[in-house]
Amino acid sequence: MSIINYQLLLKPGELILKGGNRRFFEERLIGNLKVKLRAAGDFYVSAKQSTIYVEARSEAADMELAAALCAKTFGIVNVCKAVPCEKDKDAIARTAIEFLAGAFSNIRTFKVESKRSDKRFPLSSIELSQYVGGALDDAYPNVAVDVHTPDFCVNVEVRDSLAFVHGAPIPGAGGLPVGVSGRSVCLLSGGIDSPVALYRMAKRGLKIIPVHFNAPPYTSELAKEKVVDLCRVLLPYCEKLILEVINFTHVQEEIQRNCPEELFTVISRRFMTRIAERIAIRNGAGSLITGESLGQVASQTQEAIAVTENAVKLPIMRPLIGSDKSEIVELARKIGTFDISARPYEDCCTVFTPRHPKTKPKLDPVIEAEGKLDAEALIIECLANIENIAIA
Ligand code: ATP
Ligand code: MG
Repeated sequence: MSIINYQLLLKPGELILKGGNRRFFEERLIGNLKVKLRAAGDFYVSAKQSTIYVEARSEAADMELAAALCAKTFGIVNVCKAVPCEKDKDAIARTAIEFLAGAFSNIRTFKVESKRSDKRFPLSSIELSQYVGGALDDAYPNVAVDVHTPDFCVNVEVRDSLAFVHGAPIPGAGGLPVGVSGRSVCLLSGGIDSPVALYRMAKRGLKIIPVHFNAPPYTSELAKEKVVDLCRVLLPYCEKLILEVINFTHVQEEIQRNCPEELFTVISRRFMTRIAERIAIRNGAGSLITGESLGQVASQTQEAIAVTENAVKLPIMRPLIGSDKSEIVELARKIGTFDISARPYEDCCTVFTPRHPKTKPKLDPVIEAEGKLDAEALIIECLANIENIAIA
């Protein structure tokens, strides 16, 4: 049997709805794919009739890896491994019989669905489905047609220059192509929530700059490694990630030395947010992202959020604000961050957690307490000692 060469047909999601912006979205998506696919070999990526085509340019190209990478690219709703053939009913039937041999060995019923974007094709969609269905039925006598609840659906698409045959599409990641919404700084701890928040906002087209605060020697090298590992899992969804690690030890020691214990958490959070805002401005980012969920812990009440937010001007995105922990955990498992987040290393906030944090802090006492610190000097010190880690 000949070796079948398939292509990938990618169906973009919402971007087809974006009217005048469509070209901009499509170009960004293709640009993201081209860079990402280098890891799987040499590919030709092009767009035609609301579909993106990925074709191997050399024998060495790894199509399976390419399909997996495309399925993790935001902006794509599904990925089809499709075999191209001549636009002729017999060529289409032959291709279906050959390409689907593996799939047909495991099923009992099937149906064929045809689409024609070339309306000059001599058969109607229904006639073509019947013709290809009949040929498959003859070739595989143990498999029968069932148009209502088939085990398997064979798809035939007659496009402008070629026809394509494919089986079930691989679900894509959905969302918008990374970059179309601009840039944002994500405060990434080693916990369960913030990696999920990062994922959710990358999905809405933001290019993410992850920022992590650690507090050596109170936090270990392993805590930092955990965040690097989280970034590695998130990288395929984000196209590119450069983690900025900030040494927060001096800030936390100064807070501990000078401020009331019950305000440690909210004041640290205000410093983190201020530093993240400076990094955002440096990088042309228009917002911050956190993994907060209303009421989950003391620092995540309306009052604490208001006091934190008062420290900065940029909008703070909180994609998990209305999610239950169980919902967040489910998504963390799905994207593959949960097991890493579950590693037991201390985060800088846990090390300095007060025994009785104020759940409803008021702004005036917080500002008064911060008056004992040289906030600007502490921020500048942090910004001068950032470790950048390019995630690969
Ligand atoms: P997570 O599961 O994301 O750690 P959490 O439930 O532990 O969240 P908090 O500790 O209150 O909640 O943190 C709230 C948010 O503040 C986090 O989701 C994250 O965005 C940010 N944050 C907390 N600690 C750090 C840190 N060490 N570095 C960067 N961001 C942090
Ligand atoms: Mg945490």
